Amino acid sequence: MTFDIVTELRDTADALTNPTQVRNPRHGWDANRHKVVLPDHVVTLPGLIAQVAEIVWPNGASNDGSARGVPSTRPPGNPQASAVVIDIHIGVTKWHMRWGLVARDTIESSIRQLLAKAMSQDTDTQWDLLCELRSWRYRCEVVLKEATNDPQVQVPCPVEGCGERTLRVNIAKKTARCTTCRARWSETPDPERGIWSIVGLADHIRTYEAEARGAADEARRLVREDKRRVYRQPAA
Ligand SMILES: [Zn+2]
Repeated sequence: MTFDIVTELRDTADALTNPTQVRNPRHGWDANRHKVVLPDHVVTLPGLIAQVAEIVWPNGASNDGSARGVPSTRPPGNPQASAVVIDIHIGVTKWHMRWGLVARDTIESSIRQLLAKAMSQDTDTQWDLLCELRSWRYRCEVVLKEATNDPQVQVPCPVEGCGERTLRVNIAKKTARCTTCRARWSETPDPERGIWSIVGLADHIRTYEAEARGAADEARRLVREDKRRVYRQPAA
C-alpha cells in the first residue's frame, strides 16, 4: 500500500479533534448469581486536545470539550499540559497567518479548517502540516500518559470482555478507569457519557477481595488439615 498523505492528514486531525467511541459488551449478576447480559458499555472520549485541555482546566473551561473560555485568574496546574495547549494554539495561528485564514471559534474547528485548506496545497506543504499535526498528537499522548499515572488496583476490571487487572484509581478525585477497555467510574455517574458509579466499582472490588480472601483462607485450611493428617499417620 502506498503512503497516502491526505488520509494521514485526516487521521491525525481526527485524533486531535474528534471524540472517539469505545464499545464493550458487559454483564451483571442477578440475586441468584446468574449472569445477566446488560447493554453495551459505550465510552466516548473527547479528542486529544480536549483531553489535554481538561488537565489544564480541570473544571471545564467549557462544556463542549473545546479549549475556549480560558479563565485568566487561575494559574494552570500542569505546566506540561499548558505548554502543549499553548504551542498548538501558536502553531495553528502561524498556519492561519500563512494562509490568510481567520481563526474559528474553537481550536478543533480551526484545525479542521487547516485540513480543508491543505487539500488544495502542494505535497511539500501538506507534508509540513502533517509533520506538525503529528508532533501535536505525540505531545498530547505523552502528557496524557503522564498525567493519568494513577495507582493500579489488583482486581480484574468488571467490564464484560475485559477482566484485565488494569484498573487505576484516583483517590483524590474519587474516580477510576481501566486502561485496557477505557471504562470510567466517578461519584457523579453519567451513563450517556459512559461514566459509571464509583460506588458500584467499590462494591465489586470489596466482593472480589472478600471472595479471594475466602478462597485463600480455605486453601490454607486444607493445607493445614492435610499436614495434620500426614503428621498423625506415623503415630497411628
Ligand atoms: Zn476494563
